[in-house]
Amino acid sequence: MTETKTDVSAGPAKSPLRNVEFDKSAPLLEVEDLKVEFHTRDGVAKAVNGVSFSLSEGETLGILGESGCGKSVTAQAIMGILDSPPAKIAGGEVRFRGVDLLSMDEKLRRHVRANKIAMIFQDALSSLNPVFTVGWQLAESFRVHQGADRKQAKARAVEMLDLVGIPAAKNRANDFPHQFSGGMRQRVMIAMALSLKPDVIIADEPTTALDVTVQAQVMQLLADLQQEMRLGLILITHDMGVVADVADKICVMYAGNAVEQADVYQIYETPAHPYTKALLESIPRVDQKGQELTVIKGLPPALVNPPPGCSFHPRCTFARDRCKVDVPPLYTVPGGRASACHYWEEVMGS
Ligand code: SF4
Repeated sequence: MTETKTDVSAGPAKSPLRNVEFDKSAPLLEVEDLKVEFHTRDGVAKAVNGVSFSLSEGETLGILGESGCGKSVTAQAIMGILDSPPAKIAGGEVRFRGVDLLSMDEKLRRHVRANKIAMIFQDALSSLNPVFTVGWQLAESFRVHQGADRKQAKARAVEMLDLVGIPAAKNRANDFPHQFSGGMRQRVMIAMALSLKPDVIIADEPTTALDVTVQAQVMQLLADLQQEMRLGLILITHDMGVVADVADKICVMYAGNAVEQADVYQIYETPAHPYTKALLESIPRVDQKGQELTVIKGLPPALVNPPPGCSFHPRCTFARDRCKVDVPPLYTVPGGRASACHYWEEVMGS
């Protein structure tokens, strides 16, 4: 890897973000009581139902849960890329360095997306344009956002490809996306996300489409670059193994709610919510050969018509009558943790 060094700062583009007063002493990213609804013919689906968390420089937050639990919708709301309608932000705030992004106009929001918060999507092949070389696509952001001329932009593109470990970067910049392997394409996506030196990266299932060894390489690259650049990283995944290696803290989501929040060691050692516990127990273990895998029975609920009380109760092995009527709040658990379970103490002791 080499340092990026081409100077394009003298370019003509002047970001309107210069006029926004970001507070450097404020947390990097704060999400507070975020609510996102989808208005459908069948009714209103509460896809994100009052989720809160914060992210500091150099910190990795893993957002974990099954498909349809609200992880990706949370990410899209932070990025401002929800399809609206049918999606609608029904409440809450998303603050970057103290400035609420949800009340910002779309023009400024576009600049935040380019310069402050970037996203890495799951499917690199459909995120890249098949008719342009990867070098051209990378160079475009330097031309558009930094006013770089063609030569400077191309040089920066090659530097970025080199930074993410693409061999013979100068030559590979002239190749099209289909000429790269899945792992190399995901490296290109990481290069694109990092190109304008954002402060926050949101990686939505960045390694799901890759085989296990390539997954490990790509995650290691992301973790190394994040540490080197002191980025805040939000890693969205359904894979507990992926977050265990890189996350500092974890937010477990179920049916649009954050049901457990804790640091990574606390979560793995003593889960305080039955859903987290069940997810951990469903991971195959090499020391339990021949034993049946534990499964979480049933399916996540339809968000248009979730069960009354605790939305996890039809699948929960700890459930009692109270759980069918009484929605659990996010209880404070010792050690700076939180759990949305009436019986978190019992779960931790089990
Ligand atoms: Fe299970 Fe009841 Fe806790 Fe919900 S509140 S997770 S149903 S024990």
